[in-house]
Amino acid sequence: MPGAVPPEWTQIDLTSRRGAVGQRITAGLLVASGVIGFAVSVPALFGWWWSLVLLGFACLLIVLLGIGLWINAGVSAHATITLKETGVPVDLPVVAAFETTDESVRYQLQLRLPEPAGGQEYLVHSCGYHGCVAAGRAAPHAELPVLLDATRKTWGVIHGSNVS
Ligand SMILES: [Zn+2]
Repeated sequence: MPGAVPPEWTQIDLTSRRGAVGQRITAGLLVASGVIGFAVSVPALFGWWWSLVLLGFACLLIVLLGIGLWINAGVSAHATITLKETGVPVDLPVVAAFETTDESVRYQLQLRLPEPAGGQEYLVHSCGYHGCVAAGRAAPHAELPVLLDATRKTWGVIHGSNVS
């Protein structure tokens, strides 16, 4: 039907348990440094109310960043667990690869779905992981291991050992 937009595939960043723990540690350190930084600086800045306001704002920002990171780690860990339970591991052919100028995202890989669903034939994965970079260099003669969940329309590239 023209005009009807099929539901899009959602890419899930398969975080390993270790990755989620690392994010949580970073989050905890951020919150702690915000709180401790404020507590330590308050006596020194006593009387300079505008400095206190600025400092309070900066520390609050750091604490909020930490909390956001903590929540994000939980959300992606949950999505990862769901996909690991319902997804099917498949090797998807890399049909095209584009080198990017971004240092952290070295390649944009175009993967072909085994069965085109809802008019969508390709998935795009942007990544700087060495396995994906190698696949990008070898494209179109490369494959990437992917977890696919056709009913939820979610997918995620398996990076090394992150599915164990
Ligand atoms: Zn990747």
